This record gives sequence, structure tokens and C-alpha cells, in this order.
Amino acid sequence: MFTQETIERLRSVQTPYYYYDTDMLRETLAVASGEAANKGFKVHYAVKANFNPVIMKIIAGYGLGADCVSSNEIEHAISCGFPAEETVFAGVGKSDREIETALRLGIKCFNVESAAELEVIDGIAGRMGKTASVALRINPNVEAHTIRHITTGTDENKFGIRIVELESVISTLNELNNIKYRGIHFHIGSQITDLHVFRNLSSRINELWQWLTDRGMEPDDINVGGGLGVNYDDPDRFPPFADYFDIFREHLDNRIRSSVSFELGRSLTANCGSLISTVLFVKPGAGETFLILDAGMTDLMRPALYHAYHRIENLTSKLPAKKYTVAGPICETTDTFGRFISLPETGRGDLIAIRSAGAYGEVMASRYNMRSLPPSVFSDEIN
Ligand SMILES: *Cc1c(COP(=O)(O)O)cnc(C)c1O
Repeated sequence: MFTQETIERLRSVQTPYYYYDTDMLRETLAVASGEAANKGFKVHYAVKANFNPVIMKIIAGYGLGADCVSSNEIEHAISCGFPAEETVFAGVGKSDREIETALRLGIKCFNVESAAELEVIDGIAGRMGKTASVALRINPNVEAHTIRHITTGTDENKFGIRIVELESVISTLNELNNIKYRGIHFHIGSQITDLHVFRNLSSRINELWQWLTDRGMEPDDINVGGGLGVNYDDPDRFPPFADYFDIFREHLDNRIRSSVSFELGRSLTANCGSLISTVLFVKPGAGETFLILDAGMTDLMRPALYHAYHRIENLTSKLPAKKYTVAGPICETTDTFGRFISLPETGRGDLIAIRSAGAYGEVMASRYNMRSLPPSVFSDEIN
């Protein structure tokens, strides 16, 4: 990813910034969309992972749909080339105004999380003289074996319709005139690396499919959500798209005639992005040496928010390794990217890459401490 030539060019840009390797993004998209198409699956891009317009336009070019969690995302996705009729709207708290916008733009489907939400969408659609297509987001109570903060598919969190509520939600749905039932939707968590979890999800989907079919509610579409994890230790390795799609192909009941769609975010964009930063100070501490970077938690929040690990590389030193605690300049103790990390001996002015930052990186940047938002630089601009 970082040739000597690339590093020279990166040095000439004011840090901190996000650097995106667009060749790597294109390769990832080619593999993911190719593997999905082989198995007859459709992929939507989860826009919240990275809504940088350059990234979005490249992804739209591969024929993916868009999975949005706000009406701003819907408008943005359409302006970046995603077709409205391939755009779905998920989220546990859609406002009336957002529902109106989505109906006006003619999206494919709302992923609905409760009976109350169905009634609200029905009312708004009725006033607008429209019919809203919906999928029911079901909480399948499947343990995702990932970081607790990013699991979404077990009983104790706010997402989805619990299975015990399903019967009553369906009877509400059947009474509403401006709602068209399209199917069911799941999303059990993010950064899932234990692929067995998806086998469990497939089994649960089979049970639900049978249950719904028995009640005359066979879904046209089954949206299994996203969550495929990436290898943060090895940023150049592709996520296991072939194995992932295989699991669903093998374990979903072969009587199911519904279309099957996916909503991938992290696995499509994480690897192609790095946060590039300069070392401001090498600061001795008690039992550790701090590297103080010019990038902080305002640029990349995941380590502070979830204790997430990102591989850190010194792009400009070839000296023997030493241990460092790598921290940012923000006035918070959690503003730390890694402790006791082994790096080539580092000095002021060295260029640091924090890898696998292409998902949930730039989009979570904030202006805390009145800092500037990090700009983005693309490999095809500088090479
Ligand atoms: C965040 C989200 C996704 C994408 O998750 P990844 O782990 O990035 O693949 C998909 N669907 C929904 C409903 C989401 O909220």
C-alpha cells in the first residue's frame, strides 16, 4: 500500500488527513460484488461506514444498493449515484420529516422496528397518497460474539422487533392500508469474525421463514444485514467474502425462494483507508514513552470509544524497534491509539499511518477542542 514514492508524496500534504487507496477499494468491491453475484445475492452498502462522496461514487459504480440510517444519508446516496429504488432506510428512530423525505424520494423499503413505527409510516404515506414498502427488522436473539458495544441482535438491546412481539406486529401490519409488506430484515452486530455466528443466524432465519410462511406472510426479500469483520492485525488482507456468502448459501433452507440481500459497511471500506499523522513530540513518561501525534480521537474515535485496535505503522523510520504509547493531542486521557506498541525508533516529524481506518473513521470525526475536521486524500490524486 505504501511504496517509497507514495510516502514521499504523503509527506508533502499537511497532516492529519485520511488517505484512501482507491485501487484497494475497487479490488475489494470487485471481490465482494463478484462473490455475492455468484451466489445470487444482492449487496447494499451501509453508508454510515463512510459517506465520503468520492468513496460513495466508486461504490455506486459497482452496482450496489444503499443502506441508510437517516434521510440525509438517503439524499446523499442518491446524489452520489445510488438508485432510489435500491435504497433502504433503517434505524430505530426515524423522524416524521425523514419518513416524508424517504417517501417523496421513492426508496425501495423501510426497515421497520416496531408496530408504532408502522402506524406512523402508514399515516404519513396515506397523507401523501403513497404506499410504503416495509421489511420488519427482527431481533433474532443471536449472540454476535463481538465487542459488547456493537452487538445489536440480542434481547437486551434497543434494536428490532423481538420474536415474542412478532405476532401482534403482523396483525397491526395487516390492518394498515398504505403499507406493503416486502420481507424481513436482521442485523446482529458489527466486526463479527467468528463466521459460526452467521450459521446460527441462518438457522434462526429458516425458523422464522417457516413461521411466517405458515401464516401466509412469506417474505419476498430477506435482508440478513451486515457485520462481516475485518482483520485489524493484517490491514492488507481481504475480508473472507467467499466463505461468508457460502455460509448463507449452504445454511439457508433451500426451499426459500425470497431474494437474499446483505448490508455491508466495514468490510467494504475499512482496509482502503489510513489516518496519516505526524509525530509532534516524543515524551518520556513513567515506565513508557509517549508519541504525541497531531491526530487524535477527534479524527479517529474508535480507540477512545470502543477500545478498538488499529495497526500503527511508522512510514519513515527504519531504525530498530522500541515500545511506545501512541497518543493524540486532545485534552482527554482516552485519546490514545495504542499502548506499548512496537515501532521503529521514532522521532519528531516522522510520518505515522493508523491503518484500517476507512470505516467508522472519517464519519465519526468531531470538532471537539475546536479542531478542524480531517481532510481526505486519494491515491489516484497523488500517484
Ligand atoms: C451499521 C449497519 C450495517 C453495517 O454494519 P457493518 O458491520 O459495517 O457491515 C448494516 N445494517 C444496519 C442496519 C446497520 O445499522
